[in-house]
Amino acid sequence: MIEILYLLLPLAFYSGWKAAKKNNIKQCIKSNKLADDYVKGVNYLLSEKPDKALEVFINHPDVDEYTAETYLLLGNMFRNRGEVDRALRLHQNLIARSSLNKDQKELVMFSLGEDYLAAGMLDRAERVFQELLLLDPNDVNACAPLRRIYEQTHEWEKAINATYCLEEKKIPLSYKKLIAHYYCEMADLEMTKGKLHRVEEYIAKAYKSYKNSARVMVLQADLLKRKKNYQKAFIMYLKALKHDSRLLAHLFDKIVKVATRTGQSKKLEQLLFELYSKDSNVLAYLLEMLSSSTSSTNPATIDFLLDDLKNKKLDIASISQSINILQQEESTCKERDRLLLIKQALEHYLQGKAGFQCQNCGYQMHDYLWRCPACYQWDRVSHA
Ligand SMILES: [Zn+2]
Repeated sequence: MIEILYLLLPLAFYSGWKAAKKNNIKQCIKSNKLADDYVKGVNYLLSEKPDKALEVFINHPDVDEYTAETYLLLGNMFRNRGEVDRALRLHQNLIARSSLNKDQKELVMFSLGEDYLAAGMLDRAERVFQELLLLDPNDVNACAPLRRIYEQTHEWEKAINATYCLEEKKIPLSYKKLIAHYYCEMADLEMTKGKLHRVEEYIAKAYKSYKNSARVMVLQADLLKRKKNYQKAFIMYLKALKHDSRLLAHLFDKIVKVATRTGQSKKLEQLLFELYSKDSNVLAYLLEMLSSSTSSTNPATIDFLLDDLKNKKLDIASISQSINILQQEESTCKERDRLLLIKQALEHYLQGKAGFQCQNCGYQMHDYLWRCPACYQWDRVSHA
């Protein structure tokens, strides 16, 4: 609540100064009324009675250049604290005031749009930001929230236009990556409909926007697989994995199938070994491959595994998978059964656990998503 004091105290000084300047009794009474109202409003806020405070501010008849700015900031503060209803009431009241000049009106409209966005009223938010763009096509501030809205409504063409509107002359790399994602979203949709020529078109556009996109490589591999060109699909999946090992959890089952079909399981194993030297999360997948292999495990691999179990802090999935390999080494049924028991206990522990987690906000999910549904960041989801 201290921030409210900092926000509103200047008003008390302002009203006193205004009265002194005018040196007019009537004006003085009016300004003292303004100060009284604000003190009353601040008191309500400090006593955790924000609704009563709102009534005081909203019912106050005078809003001029100075007080409008304070109203605006107070509303934004309500929104930042998650009190969107109060922010909306304040900003809606403010926008209805006839005393606002053009710049103030646009600032309040922007805040109102942000309130609607925070409240999930996307159609109203869109209308406000579109209106702002109509009022001033050169003011690109409205483009960023519009892009966020279109991401949520999955209107990818509009999201692309809103991204270009942000920086039309020289698009920065971060926006190029976003645009590639939007085209990939459209390609994914066409893939589910079986319209492969449309998929190719969108992949080409995504590649043009950002040629190092791992997602574009995955889509190219998916398309090749769909066309039964398994050899090339395998090469493309490996390229995507080398580019971004974070995708292994998402692609593992798919790549193993293609590798088995093309007789290239050993090549995949080799790549997983390479990736494991840089990313410890790869171990569980490497061990899964080794344990499902029909050939017996190389003794050097067993030694390497024992060494890692002894010296490294492995995740539960890796420890669970390592039991499959170690079982092969045990000579008696009793020893193998005991190892199996530990494996079952670890699997029970893992059951129901989310497989993926956002590296940015920690949100957990069962299926891989290119964009985190909680913080809306792209390319931040990885193995949990
Ligand atoms: Zn997140």
